[in-house]
Amino acid sequence: MPELLSIQQALERILAYASPLPVETVPLEHAAGRVLGESARATVDLPPFPSSAMDGFAVRAEDTPGELPVAFRVAAGSAPPGPLSAGTAAGIATGGTVPEGADAVVPIELVEDHGDRVAFSEPARAGQHVRPRGGDVTAGDVVAGAGVRLGAVRIGALAAAGISAVRCSRKPRVAVLATGSELRPPGSELAPGQIYESNRVMLAAALEHAGAEVDVLPVVEDDAAAHRAALERGLDADVVVTSGGVSVGPHDLVRRVAAELGVEEVFWGVAVKPGKPLAFGVRGRTLVFGLPGNPVSSLVGALVFVRPALCALEGLAAPEPVYHRGRLSVSLRRNLHRDEFVRARRVPTDDGILLEAVSGQESHMIVRAAAADALVLVPRGTGEVSAGDEIGYLPLD
Ligand code: AMP
Ligand code: MG
Repeated sequence: MPELLSIQQALERILAYASPLPVETVPLEHAAGRVLGESARATVDLPPFPSSAMDGFAVRAEDTPGELPVAFRVAAGSAPPGPLSAGTAAGIATGGTVPEGADAVVPIELVEDHGDRVAFSEPARAGQHVRPRGGDVTAGDVVAGAGVRLGAVRIGALAAAGISAVRCSRKPRVAVLATGSELRPPGSELAPGQIYESNRVMLAAALEHAGAEVDVLPVVEDDAAAHRAALERGLDADVVVTSGGVSVGPHDLVRRVAAELGVEEVFWGVAVKPGKPLAFGVRGRTLVFGLPGNPVSSLVGALVFVRPALCALEGLAAPEPVYHRGRLSVSLRRNLHRDEFVRARRVPTDDGILLEAVSGQESHMIVRAAAADALVLVPRGTGEVSAGDEIGYLPLD
């Protein structure tokens, strides 16, 4: 194996090949989870008119306290019949248009409503309970900028600002394929030497979560012709993610067959544990990730390398993984040559997040890994990182 790249070097090489896919128009109701390709601007002032924050009475503050005739009543959804004359009050609902001339709303709880007249015991303050026009946003202002992912808050903001559709890079299409003659579908009978295939559904879940449209291909036997057929099909996608068969064994065929199909290998081997034999190549605009088959290695490869690439294809301004900070509950020995992702549980404490390594850290132990909710990044080196030391981690799920 050639000299191993660091995680950061590998990520930089990958991201150099991952430029945003062409943009398309997406109706807002289908835009949750998508990344904005172009900034979206408000079509209206919000609120579009001065509106009442309470059910009550609109007045001129200077006319209170005292008793005033009720000139009219304003429901939400219709304009007031005219301006409010001095020395009168108007009934108003929350969200109703504050009539011209009025500068305050007195909540219904604080008045005596006699039908045609209303009594105010306290003086109102000018501006109270009135939401000024444009107080949230002004027409033409940016509601959400290019390069951000749309979650619930932004979707709500876009709708409120009158935006019915947005421009987003199309979703990356990802082909997932697993190699290994020992693999059988979960639920089937296992013959000696066989195991259940788990990486395809796991990878599909991880990559769909990152915004991809995933095509799961059939499992591929450790046979060059089968590899060729599957890879050829996968190479139509924007991204191909394979699992297994990238190591140094005689049945590890992915890199050789990919090369035969015109995939140019950019690198093979990252100084990371688990996941060292990860291969990355390109054919035209298609990115090809060869992840090692051990399930935890595959998972780490997907989260640390494939997911950022998908985010970049989607046009996310900051596609790199965001490491959170926590403290180790016990000391951990460093690996001399490779940065190590240790599976851990997050325990919230008064002093921040405590990270407890789970038992069973071998790369085939996916069930042990499932007890964790964090991947703690232990930098390579000599000695150990001590209990109580601050350290970075990636949240799982
Ligand atoms: P490989 O990278 O092909 O050498 O596989 C490494 C280990 O991971 C072997 O024990 C395989 O049986 C196992 N493995 C490979 N692919 C999968 C998969 N899709 N699901 C579960 N285990 C796998
Ligand atoms: Mg294999």
